[in-house]
Amino acid sequence: MPSFRSATLKLKRRLGSRVVSTGKDALFEASFDSSKISFLPEAVIRPRKEADIGVALQLAHKYRVPVTVRGRGTTLMGSAAPVHGGWVIDMLALNRIQIDGEAGMALVQAGAKVADIQRAAEAQGWFYPPDPSSKEYCTIGGNIACNAGGMHGGKYGVTRDFILALRGFMASGDYVEWGTATKKFSAGFNLRDLWIGSEGMLGIVTGAVLKLIPQPAARWTLLTSYRDEAAALRAGLALFRQRVQPAICEFLDRESVLCAERATRTTVFPGQAGRPVILLEFTGSAAEVRETKAVVLAWAKKNATGYRAARSRAEAETLWAVRRKCSGAMFELGDAKLNEDIVVPMRNYLKFIQFLSGLKRRSGLPIPTFGHLADGNLHVNIMYHRANRQESHAAEVAVNELMRTVVKLGGAISGEHGIGLAKTPFLRVQHRAAQVKAMRAVKDALDPRGILNPGKMFAPVRIWKYPKLAVHLPWDHK
Ligand SMILES: Cc1cc2nc3c(=O)[nH]c(=O)nc-3n(C[C@H](O)[C@H](O)[C@H](O)COP(=O)(O)OP(=O)(O)OC[C@H]3O[C@@H](n4cnc5c(N)ncnc54)[C@H](O)[C@@H]3O)c2cc1C
Repeated sequence: MPSFRSATLKLKRRLGSRVVSTGKDALFEASFDSSKISFLPEAVIRPRKEADIGVALQLAHKYRVPVTVRGRGTTLMGSAAPVHGGWVIDMLALNRIQIDGEAGMALVQAGAKVADIQRAAEAQGWFYPPDPSSKEYCTIGGNIACNAGGMHGGKYGVTRDFILALRGFMASGDYVEWGTATKKFSAGFNLRDLWIGSEGMLGIVTGAVLKLIPQPAARWTLLTSYRDEAAALRAGLALFRQRVQPAICEFLDRESVLCAERATRTTVFPGQAGRPVILLEFTGSAAEVRETKAVVLAWAKKNATGYRAARSRAEAETLWAVRRKCSGAMFELGDAKLNEDIVVPMRNYLKFIQFLSGLKRRSGLPIPTFGHLADGNLHVNIMYHRANRQESHAAEVAVNELMRTVVKLGGAISGEHGIGLAKTPFLRVQHRAAQVKAMRAVKDALDPRGILNPGKMFAPVRIWKYPKLAVHLPWDHK
């Protein structure tokens, strides 16, 4: 890796050593994200004000220093790992949140934690729906860069649907604003949407204006269980055909349920042990929720082997706790996981579930699967033991087969995590050569020296071959 020593010295002179760290610990901490694959940078920049980023980028552009921006480093895709060294910009200190209670907007800095934004909005009767499970850790900048989703996607949408405007810096260090704090903006090319999902490769977001909606007055949670996975998916489709839109509709296959049961030492659904479930939440005005309840209970009676409504928020919370535990609990099935956030169109749910049971059989690996049934975003978790060569090979074959099948079924290789490093081998499975060429042209136009998050997206990297750090992150399964 080339050294950027003299550029780093100039950077330190411009921003000072309180902003620019070159200490061993700081470099190590910025060298990896949740993928736990480590590449040491040469300096870590912790901007105190947004303008510091402009200064850093002007120097980086001049001296061709690679720059990787990071929020909290919760990405599982290796997207925030500084593969080419250089400088890491840590956004966590830029975390201001201001709620415009009249306009229904949140004016935030990129390092603000997503759960803090939700709490600030809620305190004023507003609701910011995108809710990645990592929301107590991840930043809104990271969510914008990955176009993060979550359990509310089916009814409310994903991060992109709540971004009114962005501001930040181009690779050259020039300051830009894409849109403003208004609900409408049709003035010129929409580069705001180009930045959303661009994984820190087209510009650095320093602030955003988010759209808020009124807090729903009522919520109702229902747990349902099914004979098998196909019956669960059929039931989900029957519900959507009735034009019922759950705020959350989480499917857990049998293997996921068993993992959650073992981790929590409770039965997810007493009397229905080990059965696939769908956990639903309905929101709206009290009258809307009341009306929906009647329709949904009739649907559950007809389609489920069992159902149980939460009688209180506390009881609903215990049901959701099970769902939140299942992902971490899977590590009892293997010490390595290929966590694939694929999307399947509803019309092909049944074909997909058939494919998945074949994939489990052929690979001989546990592949617990759960996810957001109202938007087709399923988390397929291929579990294996790293030291076992046969299992590692089976996992690689399985992930290839999975990606090809998903695209054949009209779906997507990622619904919320993005490409980063982990999905690079499959970019061309999803996209034709002309599409990849157009993306590269955009990258070259906005970042002609290729300094922003280099090594990501375009060059295939088999991330599962890299050694992983033995570190425990705050969001890891205990
Ligand atoms: C336990 C767990 C649960 C998760 N659940 C979900 C989920 O439900 N839904 C979901 O979508 N994801 C989920 N994720 C993935 C992850 O949390 C998201 O991708 C999140 O958006 C990353 O935010 P971050 O602040 O940690 O960003 P980082 O991981 O630090 O960075 C992610 C990417 O964003 C870029 N980036 C960060 N900040 C900026 C900025 N200001 N400007 C430009 N680019 C920037 C980085 O360069 C990198 O490419 C989960 C992860 C974990 C560990």
